[in-house]
Amino acid sequence: MTHTIAGTPAAGPNNGKTLRILQLYPKDMNIYGDWGNTLSLARRAHAHGFDVDIIDYNPGDEFPQDVDIIIGGGGQDSGQTVIQEDLHANSEHLKQLAEDGTPMLVICGLYQLFGKEFRTREGEVLKGIGIFDAHTVGGDERLIGNIVEESKDFGTIIGFENHSGLTYLGSGCTPLAATVTKGEGNNKAETHEGARVHNVIGTYLHGSLLPKNPKISDYLIEQAAKRKYGEFTPATIDDTLVNKARASAMKRPR
Ligand code: GLN
Repeated sequence: MTHTIAGTPAAGPNNGKTLRILQLYPKDMNIYGDWGNTLSLARRAHAHGFDVDIIDYNPGDEFPQDVDIIIGGGGQDSGQTVIQEDLHANSEHLKQLAEDGTPMLVICGLYQLFGKEFRTREGEVLKGIGIFDAHTVGGDERLIGNIVEESKDFGTIIGFENHSGLTYLGSGCTPLAATVTKGEGNNKAETHEGARVHNVIGTYLHGSLLPKNPKISDYLIEQAAKRKYGEFTPATIDDTLVNKARASAMKRPR
């Protein structure tokens, strides 16, 4: 299914250009406002002057050829089990797209499955597709609540985490944020959160992430535009409401 973002894009240097966002597994992997990330990303691209198509990809669908940004959300362990076989059927293609520089954002359950494996608390092993040099082990405790973290490229990132999986990074990827200042992050023993490799970002932050962290949207849009059109000229976007939302979210108790 394809959704087209309605309305004329803001006037600007990116007019006449189209970005195609592929939303991975919205039926099974879409909780705590993850769909809101897709919408927010699409609206941000629209505000930069692009026409935007959102393509839903669910198990068994034909994987579209021309995709500029890939985004996917979280789910229960059961949702992860449902999509696992289909994810593996597409793993070589997804890995190739990642290596070629396609920008991607995967959250929580899909972040875990973009790693090498997720071993649940019950001892079931869900094999990941290994885009991230990372593995996840089901923990006894839920790490749940509002989270704030400091990153080199995106400054302060604000969101909401809810996972029991504990993720450990290998040397083949770097954290999204080196220091969690409120909350837990990848695991209880280390201070970092999320992962990055090529132009792929994995994170535990839901809530939705992108409306409160437009720098991450801008990064995904910029990478996509440069790959497709060789250039990106950002529009000036009024972030007054975003900054109010960020200030309010930062004050929320854990
Ligand atoms: N089932 C996974 C965990 O609890 C992922 C949860 C999620 O996507 N929110 O660790």
